[in-house]
Amino acid sequence: METLNNCPVCKHDKTHASLSCIDYTVSRETFQILACDACGFRFTSPRPDEKEIGKYYQAEDYISHSDTSKGIVNKLYQIVRNYTIKQKVKLINDIIPNPKPPTPNLLDIGCGTAEFLNACKVDGWNVTGIEPSELARKNAEQKFGITPLPQEKLFEINKKQFNVITLWHVLEHIHQLDKTIDQINKLLVDEGVLIVAVPNCNSWDAKKYGAQWAAWDVPRHLYHFTQKDIEILFKRFGFKLSEVLPMKFDSFYVSLLSEKYKTGTSNLISGFLNGLISNLLTAGKGYSSQIYILKRS
Ligand SMILES: [Zn+2]
Repeated sequence: METLNNCPVCKHDKTHASLSCIDYTVSRETFQILACDACGFRFTSPRPDEKEIGKYYQAEDYISHSDTSKGIVNKLYQIVRNYTIKQKVKLINDIIPNPKPPTPNLLDIGCGTAEFLNACKVDGWNVTGIEPSELARKNAEQKFGITPLPQEKLFEINKKQFNVITLWHVLEHIHQLDKTIDQINKLLVDEGVLIVAVPNCNSWDAKKYGAQWAAWDVPRHLYHFTQKDIEILFKRFGFKLSEVLPMKFDSFYVSLLSEKYKTGTSNLISGFLNGLISNLLTAGKGYSSQIYILKRS
C-alpha cells in the first residue's frame, strides 16, 4: 500500500478524511478517501501500489476486461456500449479540426478489448491502443486484429503524432498521473484534442448514494474528479477545458449498481428512476459521468 502525501491535482500537502468506502466488486476491503484542504480534490489513500493493484481487477464482474455478458446489468451495459461507441466516433469526427487529415491518428489509452478503437479503424482512423490487462489485449487481437501495447510502451512512443488522444474512464485508474499527462502532451499534435471521460463525484447520484455510490469503485479508482478538479489539473499541463459533454447512460448504470450495493439486490426500478433524476437535476452539479474536451491554452 502507498500513502499520498500531496494532492495529485494541486500538490498541496494538507488533507482531511472525507469518506470510507467498501470495495464491493472484488475484495470487500474498506478504503479511505481523502480530500485536499486547499482545492477539495478527493483521492483514495492509502492505495494499492502498481504491483498490488492487479489483484483488485480479478473479478468476473469487471466487464470491460473480460467481455462477459452475464446478468441483466451486464447485458444492458453491452447494448448501451454499442450505441455509445457510435456516439464517441461521431464526437471525434466532429471535433477534429478541418480539413480532416487523410488518415488521422488516434491514441486510446486504456482501450480495454478495443471496441472503440475498432469502430475508429473502420471509420478510417489510424489507431493505437494502450492497455495494461494482458487478457484484454489478447481479446482485442482475437476479436479485431488490433494489438494494443502494454502500459509501459506508452513512454516509448516518441513522436508528436496524434490528432486525438482519448481516455474513456481511465484517468481515475492511473498511478503515474503527472508522468502520463506529460507524455500525452508530448504525443498530441499542437492543434490536437484530448478527450477525458471520468465519473463526477459532484453529481446528484453521487450525493444520493453516498459511500455506496458505485463510481467510487475503490481501490481501482484512485481519483474522484469534479469538473473543477479537471480544470485545475490540466491547467498545470497547459490545457484548457473547451467543452463538457454528458454521458447520460452512465447515470443509469451507476445508479443500478449503487442500488445493488446499498440494498443487496438489483432493484431495476429504483436504479432507473434515480438514474433519470440524476440526468434531470444536473444544475451546478453536472452529470454522473462527463466527457471533458481539452485543448492547449
Ligand atoms: Zn488540491
